[in-house]
Amino acid sequence: MQYRSSWMTEELDVFREQFRKFLAKDLAPHAGKWRDQKMVDRSAWRALGEMGALLPSVPEAYGGLGASFAYDAAVLEDIESVVPEVTTGVSVHSCIVAHYILNYGSEEQKLRWLPKMASGEFVGAIAMTEPGTGSDLQAVRTTAQKQGNSYVINGQKTFITNGQAADLVIVVARTGGPGAKGLSLIVVETAGNEGFKRGRNLDKIGLHASDTSELFFDNAFAPADNLLGNEEGNGFVQLMQQLPQERLSLAVGAVASMERAVRLTTEYTKERKAFGKPLLEFQNTAFKLAERKTEAMIARVFVDWCVQQLVAGELDTVTASMAKWWCSQKQVETADECLQLHGGYGYMEEYPIARMFVDARIQKIYGGTNEIMKLLIARSL
Ligand SMILES: Cc1cc2nc3c(=O)[nH]c(=O)nc-3n(C[C@H](O)[C@H](O)[C@H](O)COP(=O)(O)OP(=O)(O)OC[C@H]3O[C@@H](n4cnc5c(N)ncnc54)[C@H](O)[C@@H]3O)c2cc1C
Repeated sequence: MQYRSSWMTEELDVFREQFRKFLAKDLAPHAGKWRDQKMVDRSAWRALGEMGALLPSVPEAYGGLGASFAYDAAVLEDIESVVPEVTTGVSVHSCIVAHYILNYGSEEQKLRWLPKMASGEFVGAIAMTEPGTGSDLQAVRTTAQKQGNSYVINGQKTFITNGQAADLVIVVARTGGPGAKGLSLIVVETAGNEGFKRGRNLDKIGLHASDTSELFFDNAFAPADNLLGNEEGNGFVQLMQQLPQERLSLAVGAVASMERAVRLTTEYTKERKAFGKPLLEFQNTAFKLAERKTEAMIARVFVDWCVQQLVAGELDTVTASMAKWWCSQKQVETADECLQLHGGYGYMEEYPIARMFVDARIQKIYGGTNEIMKLLIARSL
């Protein structure tokens, strides 16, 4: 029996058919160029915006489609299956940054930024991590001092996805004393902001088309009303509230990647022969793929349930953390084993499985490391 995700609808079927064709025809041919230049062209963001693939779960009044997170999940799955080069950037932009603005922004802020993000005119980033702190977000040192009607921001961020492209960065900054209660989220627009500087586009082992940057704030300016939320000091709580959606987005991508790895490896091992027969006829090959196909299905069913929970507004941190760590762990294992089944060709850049192997590795680290996921789950025991 063909499995169908519980959150799929006929409307989504129609959208996805068109969307996959668009991805294959209009985006996939440019993926190599984007990997070489270490970032995706702005024209791709614009094209995704025209397709309605950016911010689908934001209300129409702010440029979105007024759909649920199921639409985001569908977009992420299709991108991951066809042009995984774009997954991380779009996930940060659509599933994370836009939702901070939607959930905590004033009406004026939403109208100012979301339509531009939906069209791809603006690319969004979120800057939490600093050279001295990643997992321990309460130790953020970047400061935002109120001076009249402005914030003056000083500090350094690193590993920021979309950092080179970003027109808008949500900065986690200290507006008060030490600890979680001193943190706020402030939107910094990058155009013409003299105190804002982008550092290098960092050299990574994988995700070559996704720009990842250091960002420097040296008396960078933001109007006081770029604070997200009614008052200062809510940043940490806002982060904790939004992280389940970020973590589920990573799990959605992980499942799509596992399924793709099994599909590509099945095709390859049917074609490639050794000792006079297709590789898939060796029991080891068939059993390994059978195991991975099973795990991908288990991951999918769990993630589909999480998507339903999120759409119902009921996904909790513990469950999202389970989805993030387990699916990313399985993604890495699957990519490794599928590469092995390709033999030497699996180590060659021209075979997608090689890139899937290196690209998968970050999934266990960003969005909260898998160790932090287990800490969060363990607290519920
Ligand atoms: C490609 C890429 C893209 C990224 N994109 C973004 C982005 O867009 N925005 C952003 O803000 N950040 C981003 N990050 C940063 C990422 O979220 C952090 O790297 C991650 O949270 C880990 O922080 P860290 O690197 O400082 O590691 P550390 O916190 O120093 O952790 C190092 C190791 O110690 C372990 N550890 C830490 N604390 C504990 C503990 N209490 N118990 C057990 N083990 C522990 C960790 O699990 C890890 O294994 C990105 C990173 C990469 C590589």
